[in-house]
Amino acid sequence: MCKFISSFPTQLSAVALATFFATSANASIVTSIKPLGFIASSIADGVTDTQVFVPAGASPHDYHLKPSDVQKLKTADLVLWIGEDVDQFLAGSLKKNVDPSKVITIATMSEIPVDMLYKGEHHHHDHDHDHDHDHDHDQIHHHDEHEEGQANLEVNWHIWYSPQISQLVAEKLADKLTSQYPDKKALIAQNLAEFNRTLSEQNSKIKQQLAPVQQKGFYVFHDAYTYFNKAYDLNQVGAFTINPLVAPGAKKLAEIKEEIEEHKVSCLFAEPQFTPKVIDSLHNATGVNVGRLDPMGDSVKLGKNSYANFLQFTADSYYNCLK
Ligand SMILES: [Zn+2]
Repeated sequence: MCKFISSFPTQLSAVALATFFATSANASIVTSIKPLGFIASSIADGVTDTQVFVPAGASPHDYHLKPSDVQKLKTADLVLWIGEDVDQFLAGSLKKNVDPSKVITIATMSEIPVDMLYKGEHHHHDHDHDHDHDHDHDQIHHHDEHEEGQANLEVNWHIWYSPQISQLVAEKLADKLTSQYPDKKALIAQNLAEFNRTLSEQNSKIKQQLAPVQQKGFYVFHDAYTYFNKAYDLNQVGAFTINPLVAPGAKKLAEIKEEIEEHKVSCLFAEPQFTPKVIDSLHNATGVNVGRLDPMGDSVKLGKNSYANFLQFTADSYYNCLK
């Protein structure tokens, strides 16, 4: 639709004009998950609206598109998604309904150097599938960060916690938005400059804030934080992936408890989308602090500076538990 803007004909018919305004009222950037919405809404501030598919409280790993989501896709100016693992719920409908020229797929961005991507265990939190497996085997998978390295590791796609990658995504988005809204070129450039400036400011601030807790060990219950940990030199001892629907047995609990004591763990991080009951038992048994990390940033508002705010919000969550 925005092609109309770039070559706005002087004798645009009334019908075309009506169609243009009707459609543009709904048109916006849509992103699969909120953290990508933080990037998009910073760059598109004053240009167009940003909407997010996965709602507050839900996890992208087991989200399914609703008919109203498909409608949003069809009228979107631009779609921003990762394209691997995390937001696969979008794959089918995107292919069917959206012109590829309107889509930014982060996983295929040639601007992102391979060495910016970290490896990790490929995880699907598709709990329906998990139920078909042997629970004793799948219920708790613990992997030690220090043992990671070669076999069977794939890219960890929770890339929105990488300030570097987010910067490249922001640049790409600004380019694409500029070609769709050429009359807003200056504003978009200004938004991008502002994005980069606040990001680098926030980066230094967070580094300073977290420096005193860099040595403190912690566990997470969802391996979503690798990029943040590496960006700010944090000491994740490991990740437990626990099926939240099945209470682990006494033997598993004892194993985790042993790990916590052996590694002198300072904190266990739960998530609003995913809080296994086991955390309470571990807290009671070991006295270890329990913190909360929200990889979707539910409480952070979209808009200018929201990505920097999201990083700061995450840093505060770490600091409050590790300090
Ligand atoms: Zn995840």
